[in-house]
Amino acid sequence: MKTNTAAINPRFPRNDAYGALAMPVYHCCAYEFPDHQAMIDSFTGVSDDPDYSRVTNPTVIHFENIIKRLSGAADAVAFTSGMAAISAAMMALLKAGDKIVTSRHMFGNTYLLFTSTLARFGVETVLVDLTNPEEVRHAVDSRTRCVYLETITNPQMEIADVRAIADIAHAAGACVVADTTMIPFTYADARALGIDVEILSSTKYLSGGATSLGGVVIDYGTVDGFGRTLRKDILMNLGGYMTPHAAYMQTLGLETLDARYAVHERNARAIAEGLSAIEGVKVNWPGLPDNPWHEIATRQFGGRYGAMLTLELPSEEDCFRMIDRLRIVRRATNLFDNRTLAIHPASTIFGTIDAATRESMDVSPRIVRISIGLEDPEDILADLRQAITGRD
Ligand code: PLP
Repeated sequence: MKTNTAAINPRFPRNDAYGALAMPVYHCCAYEFPDHQAMIDSFTGVSDDPDYSRVTNPTVIHFENIIKRLSGAADAVAFTSGMAAISAAMMALLKAGDKIVTSRHMFGNTYLLFTSTLARFGVETVLVDLTNPEEVRHAVDSRTRCVYLETITNPQMEIADVRAIADIAHAAGACVVADTTMIPFTYADARALGIDVEILSSTKYLSGGATSLGGVVIDYGTVDGFGRTLRKDILMNLGGYMTPHAAYMQTLGLETLDARYAVHERNARAIAEGLSAIEGVKVNWPGLPDNPWHEIATRQFGGRYGAMLTLELPSEEDCFRMIDRLRIVRRATNLFDNRTLAIHPASTIFGTIDAATRESMDVSPRIVRISIGLEDPEDILADLRQAITGRD
């Protein structure tokens, strides 16, 4: 089966008593056993009978199984949010004294997780330019457990050569952990790119229009002991498993992912092209042929470029004025909602990071981030245009 067929017609792990077409929401905390032996078998992993929904739930397992199937991975584990997935994966991978090699260009909370939270547990984060393989080669040493990257960085939109980084990391005995939130996991061949552990915020494309929070760790089975530690140690001892309701919503989201993505990207192209024609506006979207990341995006993501773009305006005041003039586009965070969303990252998502650090991360105060939705693109373009120029 190809991707859409497999996403829409998955088999349940067990036959449903009523023949339900959609996976029922098993909104229960615990499960009853017929006898003590079945109970022992479940708790000791001899059987896969669920025991407690902190670590196993039929609705969540169904969602995980579809992702496992579509990615061809060894396992997929679903968490309550993208940040829960990232922190669980890093906790499973790292110990005190280990090093992460990564970039200053990444989502604000991931940056703070590495440089603040994990630093308190003795993990060192080395920040390099991931678009320069020589810098990566220089930074990776015997203490480096992983190179961590976002396939399109948020909000800088930078795209590194994942395969080149993976070759360097693997040669040094380190693994590659990639946040692929910006392009649905179904479109890139993570294994061919050398990704060992893929993480995504399923709040974004997968949830089906901002229906629910979630995050997924996709384990390709190439890091010794990682998958077992993630499920049997970190998930059990720290919690953070996806809720059955979110898994239900996101299973529906997977069914329409390809159809929705096509519209997101078609709209992103129309809007990026339309905004590029406005004087004084610099549009950063890798689908534009003159974008510095166009060629590598084309190669790495099979000609897909995502539905997030940024606009650089002459000043921060211009950004604030533009945001305040919006009539249709919503002033909100999040990505890949059905609605188009606008945010000024420097003063919000990165607002609690000091100005010098923010500058080193290239989060410019002159940038507005737009997540393109599923509306009619003419309406969105007209709204953005009047907001930028102040003229209808
Ligand atoms: N990774 C990236 C690239 C993101 O943009 C986000 C959220 O915006 C996250 C991770 C965190 O995901 P969540 O908000 O689901 O915790």
